[in-house]
Amino acid sequence: MSLEIKICGLSTLETLDAALGAGADMVGVVFFAPSPRNVDLATARRLAGHARGVGAHARVAALTVDAEDEALAAIVEAVRPDLLQLHGRETPERVAAVRARFGLPVMKAVGIATRADLGRLGAYEGVADRLLLDAKAPKGAALPGGNGVPFDWALLSGLELRVPYMLSGGLDPSNVGAALRLARPSGVDVSSGVESAPGLKDPARIEAFIRAARAAESEAREAGTHEITGRPADPNPAGDGLPSQPDEPCVVTVLNSFRTGPDENGHFGIFGGRFVAETLMPLILDLQKAYEEAKADPAYKAEMDAGLKHYVGRPSPLYYAERFTEHLRAGAGEGLGAKVYFKREELNHTGSHKVNNVLGQILLARRMGKERIIAETGAGQHGVATATLCARYGLKCVVYMGALDVARQAPNVFRMKMLGAEVVPVEAGAKTLKDAMNEALRDWVTNVHDTFYCIGTVAGPHPYPAMVRDFQSVIGNETREQMMEAEGRLPDSLIACIGGGSNAMGLFHPFLDDPSVKIWGVEAAGHGIPSGEHAASLTGGRPGVLHGNRTYLLMDDDGQIIEAHSISAGLDYPGIGPEHAWLHDTGRATYISATDKEALAAFQLVSKLEGIIPALEPAHALAKVIELAPTLPREHLMVVNLSGRGDKDIPQVAEILGTKI
Ligand SMILES: *Cc1c(COP(=O)(O)O)cnc(C)c1O
Repeated sequence: MSLEIKICGLSTLETLDAALGAGADMVGVVFFAPSPRNVDLATARRLAGHARGVGAHARVAALTVDAEDEALAAIVEAVRPDLLQLHGRETPERVAAVRARFGLPVMKAVGIATRADLGRLGAYEGVADRLLLDAKAPKGAALPGGNGVPFDWALLSGLELRVPYMLSGGLDPSNVGAALRLARPSGVDVSSGVESAPGLKDPARIEAFIRAARAAESEAREAGTHEITGRPADPNPAGDGLPSQPDEPCVVTVLNSFRTGPDENGHFGIFGGRFVAETLMPLILDLQKAYEEAKADPAYKAEMDAGLKHYVGRPSPLYYAERFTEHLRAGAGEGLGAKVYFKREELNHTGSHKVNNVLGQILLARRMGKERIIAETGAGQHGVATATLCARYGLKCVVYMGALDVARQAPNVFRMKMLGAEVVPVEAGAKTLKDAMNEALRDWVTNVHDTFYCIGTVAGPHPYPAMVRDFQSVIGNETREQMMEAEGRLPDSLIACIGGGSNAMGLFHPFLDDPSVKIWGVEAAGHGIPSGEHAASLTGGRPGVLHGNRTYLLMDDDGQIIEAHSISAGLDYPGIGPEHAWLHDTGRATYISATDKEALAAFQLVSKLEGIIPALEPAHALAKVIELAPTLPREHLMVVNLSGRGDKDIPQVAEILGTKI
């Protein structure tokens, strides 16, 4: 069941619309004269009618405090609420009587200050339809709640009630995430926390609250696949050296350079972070520490450099695609047609950029003394790269793969097995990459002592996005040097396709602080963005939490992750690395998209003109080069990341083109 979000104490149509528009599940009107949120019957009637009229699914709750039957009857008659919220000293008997008399569900509010107060809840089980746990009002306070002060939510950890309960009292956009990590309520209720002054609701805060609550909800859903102890994470970031769970959505990290991101807790602006079950936290921190140490160790760097040179085959060439350039210039206007270079990652061992990252992680795993490597894979490319390096270094390799993908990607499954890896089909969920990733996380928690989780793109909890980016930055660093050598200056633009975003991040990162370098990321638009069948998280998604970080995701209105679609299996991920989300929001990089059809056309054109069969993934970037280059001046130097070769795509492309092979 999804988290129920209630915005209470509404009194204007404007703020009601803000709440409904932002996706509130329940709205409350207050009938209590001393409250600044008190409304009269006519106003409440208009608000409730409006809520029903706009077709919103939200229910209307009417809040009263120790009201008599006559007052309740007038409210029910005028407002027709969906639920009565009793916020006074109503006993279980009174709750039962109200319920019987009006035939409406009743939510009983109970003030909580200490553990002893929890003892009073049991009496309402089987009587109230729902409880609302509020901060207990201080003695002598005019209002029974709505004082804007939270109680110690940690009291609720592990609380088992046979009645759903909503959490209330002092919640606001900045703390609702923390509250939801401490307690597991069925809903949250907010009033003063979304106001600019007592009784004055603020639409922006309402929206921020709902966004924050939804983000925490997806986080909990993700984490729910692991055993949650229900215990709080350390709410004090400075406390014991263990960071708390990531900051609230409203915390914005300001970094003075694009290249210095993320901050120490993995935030790129409001994106990234570490949204993981508590059981995973020590592993993540261990990894982070090991990575920091490795980075500073010349021996690690030397080992990495040697592996990249002798095993991977680096540096990969920066190649002037002359015939492709001339072809595009032929159709361009006078003086137009950028000079296009390919960064040839397809020449790496295993045929793509993925090996750069896997080498880095495997060498790190060895330093950490881990002998078992786990990975998840969608199309199988990352699985193959991981299996390859595990074979090279004699490590045990387990690859999780959605059962559907196992069936679709038989050649890669066979490849992994040839390399000595165990491939585990995942039958959960949609049986694709997202489910494989959850399963890998679960394995990791269970096998902490000897297992290293090798993530294939710039996603996952911190430090993965930054670590994978660092490993892939060899692409951009080489490009910089090679371009200086070839042209004596920096490129004018960079362009790369985006699945999770690792090949793009690797090319972009060394240039982020060079404002003259224009940056384009190309997402997969599948059948077109309006069709809804695409994999363009930035172009067609919205912020949420998945796989341990906050970023842009493909989600439906209920916050459920939508399956991504692309002709290219490697771009078929419903999220995108958090650093890209940040570059997008800050405007440092521009994100565009290419459809299946455009990618297929580019695939064929580049094969014929350059004698290089690109993978379908970089064919998306090439498709946009075809569009952009003719609009740019001839002096413009453009680098496109040729992230992989197309051999793997031959059977699929042949079938699409109607050729039997
Ligand atoms: C996996 C893959 C991609 C997509 O992954 P990113 O992390 O976005 O780079 C792109 N190109 C190729 C060839 C791939 O194998």
